[in-house]
Amino acid sequence: MAVETTIPTTTSTSLGPAANEKDAEKLRFIDEMTAYADAVQEKVLAEILSRNAETEYLQRYKLGGATDRATFKAKIPMVTYEDLQPEIQRIANGDRSPILSAHPISEFLTSSGTSAGERKLMPTIKEELDRRQLLYSLLTPVMNLYVPGLDKGKALYFYFVKSETRTPGGLLARPVLTSYYKSEHFKSRPYDPYNVITSPTPAILCADSFQSMYVQMLCGLLHRLQVLRVGAVFASGLLRAIRFLQLHWEELARDIAAGSLSPKITDLSVRDSVADILKPDPELAEFVRAECSTGEWAGIITRIWPSTKYLDVIVTGAMAQYIPTLEHYSGGLPMACTMYASSECYFGLNLRPMCKPSDVSYTIMPNMAYFEFLPLELAATRKGDGDVQLVDLARVEVGKEYELVITTYSGLCRYRVGDILRVTGFHNAAPQFRFVRRKNVLLSIESDKTDEAELQKAVESASELLKPYNATVVEYTSHAFTKTIPGHYIIYWELLVKDCSQGRTPGGEVMERCCLAMEEALNSVYRQSRVADGSIGPLEIRVVRGGTFEELMDYAISRGASINQYKVPRCVNFPPILELLDSRVVSAHFSPALPNRSPQRSG
Ligand code: AMP
Repeated sequence: MAVETTIPTTTSTSLGPAANEKDAEKLRFIDEMTAYADAVQEKVLAEILSRNAETEYLQRYKLGGATDRATFKAKIPMVTYEDLQPEIQRIANGDRSPILSAHPISEFLTSSGTSAGERKLMPTIKEELDRRQLLYSLLTPVMNLYVPGLDKGKALYFYFVKSETRTPGGLLARPVLTSYYKSEHFKSRPYDPYNVITSPTPAILCADSFQSMYVQMLCGLLHRLQVLRVGAVFASGLLRAIRFLQLHWEELARDIAAGSLSPKITDLSVRDSVADILKPDPELAEFVRAECSTGEWAGIITRIWPSTKYLDVIVTGAMAQYIPTLEHYSGGLPMACTMYASSECYFGLNLRPMCKPSDVSYTIMPNMAYFEFLPLELAATRKGDGDVQLVDLARVEVGKEYELVITTYSGLCRYRVGDILRVTGFHNAAPQFRFVRRKNVLLSIESDKTDEAELQKAVESASELLKPYNATVVEYTSHAFTKTIPGHYIIYWELLVKDCSQGRTPGGEVMERCCLAMEEALNSVYRQSRVADGSIGPLEIRVVRGGTFEELMDYAISRGASINQYKVPRCVNFPPILELLDSRVVSAHFSPALPNRSPQRSG
């Protein structure tokens, strides 16, 4: 007997058979963009250059209306944020003339990357929201290729907005995700059975992080049997949610039992958003109590949400440090890293989202911006001097590492993002990249990025407090401690106390003030995470005994480091070195208070 196997041709794509016709259309779009990557890039560049031809910036470089690659590459220099700061400042101050972009700047996106301690301000234009939305719309069709049945349940995603400010010229300045969640694209999104999330929009939009988290967690518990995936944008966000459950399960269970919301939730639209779904459910309340009161948190995600198929969180780059903790809480569920994006531009997506975190590669979508790649060997030596040979998207080589350089519709031209990527292969003619690291980041707990210069400045600022004790910091190093939630910075100090004969050694109280002084000297993203969302814990200084850093050097030399070239590492992660340092600790001190937030803008 012949078995009928009709594979509908309309839903077949090079990525696999799509779940439905709507998905097929999106997957075909990915196919088309990646198959013609180079031609798409050429077109994108021509579009950007022609629409912005009259801008002050392009006029300065005398492109004369040219929109081709050769002229662009010959005349436009590669730049960093600092190079563009005068233009960006003028826009922030209210200059509405076409400086970088012919289209009006709609708002500033505040990057978690900083410049002089403050968040970078990325000018953006309205239509960029459509481009971001387009990238988001590709994620589910790709996921549906690997995980069937996502339309049969819900997603428990913890999403948050952050505070927004206005520039002196009146433009909004806020993080890109805050801008997206507050947009009609998100708020008025049409119903999509494959993307039903448990969190009510008012809870996501509530700027009070406690109320927002409380209600998102509550809704996750109420819908626990329908939840098929659990996630947050970054791993650190999901771990904060688990921590929140550890701290507040009793209160949540009480609300579920009574069917009434805690008076701590004062935002009326948030209260309204759960009015219909919060009914007395003593059985569920008992279940939550039974699971959370044992003190055993291993596998808590699958115990509470038993149908969870995977975690949807980014665990690449700085977030890789959280993989073991997430594995512990989820009993080893797969972790899907779906996309790679920034305030400057959304770059691309992972076409194999269920692969192991260590195998994640992102395919940059050629329609998002014009992408160039600075070979890593040149990245360290060359500045934006115009004659640097940048490689085009379709011409990068497998196995090589590059720094990403972008030219966007919003008017950034040959802008260095600061991300280092390694080419792992191609999908059609579009390369796929492993995220290697971000340049110059020493310490990161969540979106904070502290570089060596910032750490140095913070140590210098704090060590001023040691002067009355004739003490100095002779050596220091650091570590981002993430075994507890929230994580915190540990700074190891070796002190030289020149005159301890009069008993004037810096005591615990002085050292605590040093911790706080360091925090106050760190960048505004760090301080905001400490103060506004408590997603970073108090900074700790561990004083190690004299001679420890010499031992560190001996250890490095015993492992093959050159004596002449040895430099104290300003951040350590290698477990034997951490063990060595910890075994020499004579005292540990924590910051006793929250640091002051930026006196200027809080981003
Ligand atoms: P922001 O400008 O604050 O939006 O941060 C953007 C930066 O976050 C990027 O330039 C990357 O350094 C990092 N990032 C974004 N997505 C990923 C990802 N999927 N994996 C690793 N790092 C990422």
